[in-house]
Amino acid sequence: MNIAIDGPAAAGKSTIAKRLAEILEFRYIDTGAMYRAVTLYALNNGFIKSSDSIIQSLDQIHISLTKEQPQRVLLNEVDVTDEIRSQQVTDNVSYVASIKQVRRFLVEQQQQFIKNGEVIMDGRDIGTTVIPNADVKFYMIAHPRTRALRRFEENKLRGIHQDINLLEQEIIDRDQKDISRKESPLQKANDAIEIDTSNMTIDEVVEQMLNIIQK
Ligand code: C5P
Repeated sequence: MNIAIDGPAAAGKSTIAKRLAEILEFRYIDTGAMYRAVTLYALNNGFIKSSDSIIQSLDQIHISLTKEQPQRVLLNEVDVTDEIRSQQVTDNVSYVASIKQVRRFLVEQQQQFIKNGEVIMDGRDIGTTVIPNADVKFYMIAHPRTRALRRFEENKLRGIHQDINLLEQEIIDRDQKDISRKESPLQKANDAIEIDTSNMTIDEVVEQMLNIIQK
């Protein structure tokens, strides 16, 4: 069985997907982390503005996601789990993710995971492009202010203090970029079940989704 979760930035996809993966004993795949790792590679090598250089560097980029929780993200064998959450990566990731060749490169790897067992995968194009025949598809949404507040609390725990209004604007802008790109834009699959988590706790969301999965 494979489960696809899509939705806009900071809608709680990864928090919920991790919980579900633990309960169901599925492998969790955070596809956003993969786009972030490519972005970090381009930033570290000084060619973030050049799509040609990014495309040419793809064969030097090796990304792995560890199986155990908490999951670690490795870029060419180096642990970049925390670095890929930096503001600089967040500011540039939508551009990198809009490059057709980058998407092809990562989608191919994401599809390999499906061949190797049961997965729960979250992202923007999982139900539409990566696993169009997923057994269950969810599309998670929440009000931008709620999403900004959740990200604010998350950042606080990691020692990062960011203005809440700026955070909300950043989330709205990133969604806009992800929705308007040509290649596999952020989109709800026709057969996805929409869950608005604005007024729900994590436990409530998990319970509702489990009920649907186990039907
Ligand atoms: O999920 P996360 O917010 O970490 O994703 C970072 C960015 O990666 C998104 O804003 C989007 O531009 C890109 N992304 C994507 N397709 C995916 C997952 C993420 O384009 N499947």
